[in-house]
Amino acid sequence: MDVVRAHARDFVQQRLAPAEPENDGKQTPMHGHPAFKAMHATACCCRGCLNKWYHVPLYRELTESEQERIVNLMMAWIRKNQ
Ligand SMILES: [Zn+2]
Repeated sequence: MDVVRAHARDFVQQRLAPAEPENDGKQTPMHGHPAFKAMHATACCCRGCLNKWYHVPLYRELTESEQERIVNLMMAWIRKNQ
């Protein structure tokens, strides 16, 4: 689980945290890593979904604590659904 969490952190940092992520809306594959499934299931797959479901503002970088909350949410989903 520590490894999955480390990967989840990387994905969030690289794919979601930038103010304008590359290919936003398409940056998260549907398959592959369990974290990708979790990102879709928890509506943490792109900034559009984060904005729609959690009212996270677009066009600004995610803070450390926001990234942490997203990872926690994903990990809770993974633990329930593994
Ligand atoms: Zn999305």
